[in-house]
Amino acid sequence: MQLMNDKVAVVFGVANKRSIAWGITKALADAGATIALNYQNDRMGDAVRKLAEDLPETPYMAACDVTNDDEVAAYFDGIQREFGRVDALVHSIATAKREELGGEFVDTSWEGYALSQQVSAYSLIALARHARPLMKGHESAVLCLTYYGAEKVVDGYNVMGVAKSALESNTRYLAANLGPDGIRVNALSAGPIKTVSAMGVSGFSSILDSVEQKAPLRRNVTQDDVGQAALFLLSDMARGITGQTIYVDSGYSIIGV
Ligand code: NAD
Repeated sequence: MQLMNDKVAVVFGVANKRSIAWGITKALADAGATIALNYQNDRMGDAVRKLAEDLPETPYMAACDVTNDDEVAAYFDGIQREFGRVDALVHSIATAKREELGGEFVDTSWEGYALSQQVSAYSLIALARHARPLMKGHESAVLCLTYYGAEKVVDGYNVMGVAKSALESNTRYLAANLGPDGIRVNALSAGPIKTVSAMGVSGFSSILDSVEQKAPLRRNVTQDDVGQAALFLLSDMARGITGQTIYVDSGYSIIGV
């Protein structure tokens, strides 16, 4: 019996083979889950469809930009028609204007601040709201991806650190709100991984170097490390865990000066 047999997993955030969401998707599919993916827009659809050829079964795929409420509603209407249920929901999406990821934090613009909050933090609430009727009444779980810059100042992370703080708080409020429906909500705080989004943070390679030098495991984590932990948190093995931020960071976050 595989961990995710008979379970439907909806994963937001696959863009390419380096995406953390792709590591999670592979782990869920290997554990027997039926997969549904989004892609941000039609331009990105071909790359996601091509990548999906590597999965054991062709997943359900549709466009969904989380800044467009109608698209989010239409996406979950499609999931309702296709599967009638959701057991696992993954939020692995974030964005910030490039000019906000570097320079002085005091220069953060309202537009840049609002965009990063909308896409990287608020959208967790919107996705959970639409998924709720499909998740209610059976063991189900939501997972989002966060980073250490939510709680400590990380050079260059700036506006995204503030969005991640909001995301972690959203996780706790959603966990309290949706727990009585049987829906667990957790955040996974991943160590730095070279992805398209991460490369937008100025000085990102020195963050990778710092983990290799200081983290207890003396190495950076991979998309597969995150995928395995995500599989655990989304499976019934984690049935007593909700509202938590769990670190998959080679232990970096426990180190002092
Ligand atoms: P990525 O660039 O591969 O993934 C980001 C995803 O967000 C893409 O699929 C993109 O299409 C999607 N996205 C952006 N705007 C969107 C919108 N308006 N609507 C729908 N989708 C949208 O990068 P990643 O590093 O895999 O990022 C995934 C998550 O992991 C993010 O939340 C990121 O903050 C988090 N994270 C990353 C790291 C890291 O070092 N890479 C560390 C910790 C947490």
